[in-house]
Parts: sequence; structure tokens; C-alpha cells
Amino acid sequence: MIRNYRDLTRLEMEQVNREETIVLIPLGALEQHGNQAPLGTDDIIAEAMTQYLKKELEAVDPDFPMLLFPVIPVGLSTEHKNFCGSITFTPATYYHVLYDICVSLARHGFKKIALLVCHGGNAPVVQVLSRELRSELGISPFILSSGAFSHPDVTATISPGNVWDFHGGEMETSMVMAVDPSLVKLETSQAGIPAAFKDNKALKPYGNVSIGWVSEDWKTEDGTPIGIGGDPSGASAEKGRIILETSAKVLVPGLLEIRDWKA
Ligand SMILES: [Zn+2]
Repeated sequence: MIRNYRDLTRLEMEQVNREETIVLIPLGALEQHGNQAPLGTDDIIAEAMTQYLKKELEAVDPDFPMLLFPVIPVGLSTEHKNFCGSITFTPATYYHVLYDICVSLARHGFKKIALLVCHGGNAPVVQVLSRELRSELGISPFILSSGAFSHPDVTATISPGNVWDFHGGEMETSMVMAVDPSLVKLETSQAGIPAAFKDNKALKPYGNVSIGWVSEDWKTEDGTPIGIGGDPSGASAEKGRIILETSAKVLVPGLLEIRDWKA
């Protein structure tokens, strides 16, 4: 059975098989996502992903043992901090927030913690944290990536010519629209291209040779920093539904193996 962690009473929690139950912690962010999408885009996607996952998992195993932890609404968003409204922890604070939550869970006997990364900037901290937790506490911290952005069903949703789509672009904007179209102001959208790297062959924001990037590197055609990758103008709720559903389905086989994992 999949339930919300916060809904259980203390007595109900005492009845949970905490050694076997997975605690899924969705990791959001509160940061600019261009003109058109809300600051809480990653948070909104994180919340939606838990519901899509619940549906997919319960279709396979109605007794799937998982508790959904509340979404952590702020993450590591250093790269966006100069854009209005972005909120970030420092890396050390974020590490310790997650560390303290996981230590508390471990104290109650939970062994399986699945960290659902819904913002790429959170991933490096989660990678370091998961190894430290495993080594220090002997628990099993798993890392799940929320978006199946290279899956063919997902790439098929991207409009032709929109080659730079990632942060705040068509895919993320579509996912928010799938949740609540009124949160997106598509008429204000502008496309962002990686102006600083556009002509580079080797030095990229990601890859074998990269730089600690800031989202000002992504600019509009006329050179104004916009901080998003791609062109959100083709976003739609239906595309968002496909992306969320596909991304959830991609995680199911791994979660079934986490269910059966013996620490
Ligand atoms: Zn995002």
C-alpha cells in the first residue's frame, strides 16, 4: 500500500514494516523557469510524479510498500540565484537538511530511502549524500531521476527545431500544464539558447569538458539572459501527461527491484 508519510498517526507508523517499506523523498526546487513557468515548477512536477508513480506501481503490486514523504520544496539552485524569485540552499545546508531527514528515518528503522531527484542541480549533493549514508548508517539510499528525457516517447513530444530543450523549456512547461494549465503564461514565453557554448565542439555546460555553469549562459536570440534551455512555446498539457506517465513507467522496474532488495 502506498500512503503519504504525513497522513499516518504515530500508532499507525508503529505498525509499518519499516525495514521493508520504501520512503520516497521527492526533491523539488524553487527557482526561475523562464517567463512562462512558475518558480515552483520542479516542486509541482515532483508532486505530480509521486501520483503517477503511485498509479503505475499499484497497477503492478497493490500492496507495494511505500510511503510518500512530503516534497522538499527548496534545493540547490545556485545557477539560477540571480533571477528574480529563485531561492537556494548552499550546498552544505542542503546536504545537511537531507542528511538529518535520512538519519531521523534510519533512527525509526527505515532501511530503504529513495531520493527522487526532480531538479538536476540537486543531483550532485544527492550522489555524495547517498554514499555517505550507506557507508555511515548501513542503510540503502537509492537515487531516482524523475524525468525520462531521452526516452523516445518523450523526445517525440518536442517540437521540430527545438534542439536545446531542458531547463524551463517545452518539456518542463508541458508537465506543469498537465497539472494546472492556469499556472503557465505561454504568451510570455521566449526561447533560450546556450549562447556561451553554441559554437563550441568540446567545452559544454555538461560533458567530458565542462564548466560550473550559471543559467545566464542561456540567452534569447538577441542576447538577453533568459536562463532557460529550449523553446517553451509548443508546450501542452497532453505532452506533459505523456512525459509524466512515461517517466513514471520508466521508474517502475527499478522500484520493484528496490522492493525486493535485501540490504
Ligand atoms: Zn526545473
